[in-house]
Amino acid sequence: MPRPSGRALRETHCENDNVGVQDFVLLENFRNEDAFMNNLKQRFQKDIIYTYIGNVCVSVNPYHQLDIYSKDHIEMYQNVNLYELPPHIFAVADQAYRSMRDELLDQVILISGESGAGKTEASKKILQFLALSSTNTGKAGNIRDRLLQSNPILESFGNAKTIRNDNSSRFGKYMACNFDFKGEPLSGKIVNYLLEKCRVVYQMPGERNFHIFYMLMASGNTALLQRLQLDPQPSKYRYTNQGDAEKVATIDDLRDYQDLERAFDELAFDRAEIDELYNIIGAIVHMGELKFEAITRDESRIQDMEPVHKLAKLLGVELNVLSQCFVHKTVVARGQEIRGDLSQEQAQYACDALAKAMYDRMFSWLVERINRSLEYNHDGRQTVMGLLDIYGFEIMKTNSFEQFCINYCNEKLQQLFIELTLKSEQEEYRNEGIEWEKIDYFNNKIICDMVEERHKGIIAVLDEECLRPGEVSDMTFLERLDNQLKHHQHFLSHKSADKEQRKNMKYQDFLIRHYAGDVVYTVTGFLDKNNDQLFRDLKDAMSRSTSSILQACFPREELEAKRRPLTAGTQFKQSLNSLIETLSTKTPSYVRCIKPNHNKRAGVFDTEVVHHQVKYLGLMENLRVRRAGFAYRRPFEIFLERYKSLSTATWPSWRGSAREGIQKIMDALRVPADAYRMGKTKIFIRNPKTLFDIEDAFQH
Ligand code: ATP
Ligand code: MG
Repeated sequence: MPRPSGRALRETHCENDNVGVQDFVLLENFRNEDAFMNNLKQRFQKDIIYTYIGNVCVSVNPYHQLDIYSKDHIEMYQNVNLYELPPHIFAVADQAYRSMRDELLDQVILISGESGAGKTEASKKILQFLALSSTNTGKAGNIRDRLLQSNPILESFGNAKTIRNDNSSRFGKYMACNFDFKGEPLSGKIVNYLLEKCRVVYQMPGERNFHIFYMLMASGNTALLQRLQLDPQPSKYRYTNQGDAEKVATIDDLRDYQDLERAFDELAFDRAEIDELYNIIGAIVHMGELKFEAITRDESRIQDMEPVHKLAKLLGVELNVLSQCFVHKTVVARGQEIRGDLSQEQAQYACDALAKAMYDRMFSWLVERINRSLEYNHDGRQTVMGLLDIYGFEIMKTNSFEQFCINYCNEKLQQLFIELTLKSEQEEYRNEGIEWEKIDYFNNKIICDMVEERHKGIIAVLDEECLRPGEVSDMTFLERLDNQLKHHQHFLSHKSADKEQRKNMKYQDFLIRHYAGDVVYTVTGFLDKNNDQLFRDLKDAMSRSTSSILQACFPREELEAKRRPLTAGTQFKQSLNSLIETLSTKTPSYVRCIKPNHNKRAGVFDTEVVHHQVKYLGLMENLRVRRAGFAYRRPFEIFLERYKSLSTATWPSWRGSAREGIQKIMDALRVPADAYRMGKTKIFIRNPKTLFDIEDAFQH
């Protein structure tokens, strides 16, 4: 029995959601984008931020706190079928949780959307929901708290203030929680994807470096700052002042520092580990202060040794090793080491490259370390609930290698969506004994192949160009790409474009026709970013550190390895494919997040901004796939219960089967036979118009 307060809450909650349709599949004209937008807008303006497309939950960021996430709300959504209450992220979480616990099906909730759309908030709400469904005590309670507390750690090191979002995740995250047969959490595992490491050395106006830098400086912990030899003013340092946005109104760096310390505690980090992490952060700040001067055109030296002394201390690397590694490069050729010099420009570049690599590797170490705290060996049945919080389609003014990777990732996820949706549709039809109807949709496999195919795909061509001896450059890469793909229907380069298409392209651009729309990429920097090389001397110096974290991040084996390390593109491709493999064995639910405007304002629905996202999230395509078969389906009992008054045969009482009862109703209403199908347990209605007619008859 629901508690009285629960019932009252439930009633008002349901009454409040009376605008438009709760599921886009019920839109009569489902191909019409205006109707789609209108439904979204009307609901948003009444603070109804969730709407379904079948099993996809569309969410519009309200940019203000709504009273829909309380403990009572969580309880209201527990153990209730998806369509019995207004759309909600909790309903999605509950459906996935129960399917996992009761049907033993591994689950994954995929959250996508552009920066600031509310992905991370959504994933936190889901975790909060899952946390309440487990007990407070013992190992389960402990793991649950640790799962929750992993967030502040990851956000401190992986999030930053950007123009679009004050707390923007600058990495992709997949979190898997294992549950036992009672539905209690047992262990967890996090996988991180593609951290935006260039932020460590460069920030755009109005943006900051990763939060942790400012948190340490604001910590008020004088002993710590003294050890790190850091001034509490971020404006003093090149790596923390470029965006000129050190203070952010919505961020309390001191409180966040305290939360971080608590989280470290919860996850049982040693003080020594935390100190080492902070030392690395301090060292990176000092690296930003290193300056180089030219001795000759090809040689340089460190201008001022003061930062090097600080670095040596914080990194636990000998001073003479450190002072040499920034200005030299050693190449191993035919088993022999040849030492060369770095020009001033090269030295500066190498220094930034080391700062980026150090941060990136430290972040991966941190994720591994968190995973160790979430580990728990357990025999017996386990099921998985996965949560994917990953960057959505990205289109910037200039799109580079990073956007290329991110959009390729979205292309793969769309493919997975299509495959899984079709698969589950087919399964449902088969289970229900309904004849399969062909679904007409665009299969974007052709675009995925164009990017990742062996030998021929864009990544393969890029890798080849990175390895090819001789004069290679971003432009020679583009030329090769053009030769390879000029006849491909999803590719265009400046050279192969016609006059009209060239208008939006520069000489060094190529265009990909993504499933969600066209994106123009600029090749500048592609080779360099794909190569992602760090001079051997720097790796060698780091591997000699006394810090166990740095030793783990820069293992000696890497220096001794004969083979070239994988390129960034290939690494990404591999980790993405393994992600897709993990996801494809699970039952998916989807949350598609939308931001209503670019100004983080509550109550403002900018139609153009939203329309753009509807397009790039592929929502119309989602809807088309969902609507290809039957728009509406319900278990017989539930359908009969609602509409039994529509036939004198079933009203006031009906003793036959639910299926036969529904047949009587459909006959009484003269619904044409082709408008619906009777499965084994459910009725399927093709067009919502039919449902609305039935509903009309019911209302009158
Ligand atoms: P990024 O890709 O940059 O990480 P994101 O999609 O993860 O972006 P969030 O950090 O989740 O975006 O959300 C951005 C901000 O929007 C939050 O800090 C919060 O202020 C607001 N917000 C998001 N979702 C909600 C919500 N459901 N209720 C209230 N505010 C929200
Ligand atoms: Mg985020």
